[in-house]
Amino acid sequence: MVKETKFYDILGVKPQATTEEIKKAYKKLALKYHPDKNPDEGHKFKEIVMAYDILSDPEKRKTYDKFGEQAMKEGASNGGGFGGPQDMFDMFFRGGGFFGGGGGRDRPRHANDVVHQLAVSLEDLYTGTTRKLSLQRNVVCVKCEGKGGKNVETCPNCKGGGYHVQIQQLGPNIVQQVQIKCGECRGAGKRISPKDRCKHCNGKKTISERKILEVHIDKGMQDGQKITFSGEGDEEPGVEPGDTIIILDEKEHELFKRSGNNLIMRMHLELVEALCGFQKVIKTLDDRDLVITTLPGEVIKSGDVKCIPNEGMPQYKNPFEKGRLIIQFLVNFPTQIDPALIPQLEQCLPAREEIMIPDNAEEVILVDMDPNSSRRESRKQAYDDDDSCGNRVQCASH
Ligand SMILES: [Zn+2]
Ligand SMILES: [Zn+2]
Repeated sequence: MVKETKFYDILGVKPQATTEEIKKAYKKLALKYHPDKNPDEGHKFKEIVMAYDILSDPEKRKTYDKFGEQAMKEGASNGGGFGGPQDMFDMFFRGGGFFGGGGGRDRPRHANDVVHQLAVSLEDLYTGTTRKLSLQRNVVCVKCEGKGGKNVETCPNCKGGGYHVQIQQLGPNIVQQVQIKCGECRGAGKRISPKDRCKHCNGKKTISERKILEVHIDKGMQDGQKITFSGEGDEEPGVEPGDTIIILDEKEHELFKRSGNNLIMRMHLELVEALCGFQKVIKTLDDRDLVITTLPGEVIKSGDVKCIPNEGMPQYKNPFEKGRLIIQFLVNFPTQIDPALIPQLEQCLPAREEIMIPDNAEEVILVDMDPNSSRRESRKQAYDDDDSCGNRVQCASH
């Protein structure tokens, strides 16, 4: 039993969810509520990040399950914990954030990365394209050069220490001494008094700025691939700027499904086409027309799979090499055939097998199979459902 479920609820998972499930739920929500995509949902995003920070760490999760959110806050400033949503928010973006994936770069402390998801069509990824993006980022205030104002003074609230010490009662016999970050100077120990604050940035040292980025999408890039603009993320005085990271989000295509460098499509054929041959035109992602023609006398069965070499997706960084275009055929059968025409049709098709009907054979009726009807409903259906029926059909055809 857990004390409370708030953080689980935020991520939409059960308290007994595995770390893997938590991670999956988090990734989905983080992309959905990311401030670049959803600027009005900043609070929600911070909650998601905070919930994930706690639930993804076995130690923190244990403490949370046992004592609840309050204990997390109290234990926080005591080194290694978290100091509230803003700190978590910062941590999220530092060092590539959770989107970093490939084993983290060893960068010195730097300002926040700006992460943005970019929806691209399969056509864009096939032909390559350039997209202009307008993104918001923080830049160091030019008026005060990132100082925030004149006359930096010792914080009167914490007397320069940056932290307050508090005694916390955690449980019946557990007392913990914790450091609480000073709210006035955010742990810096120094502040600028309100009257001396830079008017341009209101003492925040940075201002928000819109910037147009040109994103080059190369042929063959994949869903989820990252394009990094080094140093184009947030700026902060005294540290390296962050990066701007664009994550590609491949939109579904109505005809083609992508599988690595292969493209997969379904093609419906009429029975006459399947039996007597056909020509079809396929419009490629770069708007060319491909004509396919069956060989004389070739029959295509429903479910048959064929491919066109070198008409799949271009290989990333080697775009002249392409994958395959794989076509899965589905044959539409007519529902009825004019009985008068059957003899003619029979002449074209392979001869049927002669069968011997034993003298004592029982004549039964074949009806459409309804998987939802119960066995008891009728004697006939029970017979159709019978497993041995299927076996008999198989044996007969051998
Ligand atoms: Zn300023
Ligand atoms: Zn202070």
